[in-house]
Amino acid sequence: MQLATILKGKPVADKISEGLIKEVEELKAKGITPKLAIVRVGASPDDLAYERGALGRSKKVGIDAEVKELPEDISQDDFIKELKAVNDDPSVNGILVFRPFPKQLDEEVIKYVIAPEKDIDCFSPINAAKLVEDDATGFAPCTAVSVVEILKYYEVPLEGSNAVVLGRSMVIGKPAALLLLRENATSTICHSRTKDIAGVSKGGDILVAAIGRAKFATKDFIKEGGAVIDVGINVDEEGNLVGDVDFEEAEKVAGMITPVPGGVGSVTTSILARHVIRACKAQNNL
Ligand code: NAP
Repeated sequence: MQLATILKGKPVADKISEGLIKEVEELKAKGITPKLAIVRVGASPDDLAYERGALGRSKKVGIDAEVKELPEDISQDDFIKELKAVNDDPSVNGILVFRPFPKQLDEEVIKYVIAPEKDIDCFSPINAAKLVEDDATGFAPCTAVSVVEILKYYEVPLEGSNAVVLGRSMVIGKPAALLLLRENATSTICHSRTKDIAGVSKGGDILVAAIGRAKFATKDFIKEGGAVIDVGINVDEEGNLVGDVDFEEAEKVAGMITPVPGGVGSVTTSILARHVIRACKAQNNL
């Protein structure tokens, strides 16, 4: 039996980073060093793991990075003051704010505070609107961009293909579907109320799974020979990191599939760095 080709994230991230290193060298020759600021409330293991990846990637491509760590019990007013200070810091070009927040912080208010031109992971409604309008000056969420970058790197045909996205969050599902639509795929979004979700998914030349349910997409969801991008990060009953797709079943049906870990997650920080550099160039009228 022919198993699916494994679409690893690392070569994609390495290729993106290579280009970024050159861009940063050119900026440094002009006396400009792009800078990322990470705003973290508390110290959740997930945030810390992503932060380590983002700091490592920043170092690799030559951009500066700093972390503003805020106490878990910070008040809404104090948080807004801190975020405004980062907005106003001229040395900072891109801001990543970790979410979800503790319950005393109101995301619906705070998302209007982050400066849209520094909002490199699509927290601001301005960037969400730009995503919908195909306005290239905006910043789409890094994970959703990573989905499309992987497909492009492995030369999966997008134009005219049927792309089915499982999940409709503003972080992954909706933006991934919109970015695939931008590439002239026919995008379908499935969610918790979708009827015959396996049947709809099976129609996808491309299946993007982003629902946060371990091994949810079984072989019945997969089109024979299709491309499967598994965004999910879950811990199964045995404590293993697994995706939203049942990998062992899917690799027997799909033509290509991303692993978890080592797939989408490995590309995200390179997109983050790319966005910081783009923000820096825009802020310097380059
Ligand atoms: P989320 O905000 O919880 O959204 C989950 C979405 O999945 C919702 O739209 C929900 O539908 C849908 N859903 C949930 N259960 C479903 C079911 N049984 N059938 C159909 N649809 C269902 O999650 P998220 O933030 O988008 O994250 C999704 C996954 O990606 C998680 O596993 C997360 O850990 C992972 N993730 C990965 C990366 C990475 O870099 N690889 C980054 C961020 C997140 P409704 O809207 O109808 O409720």
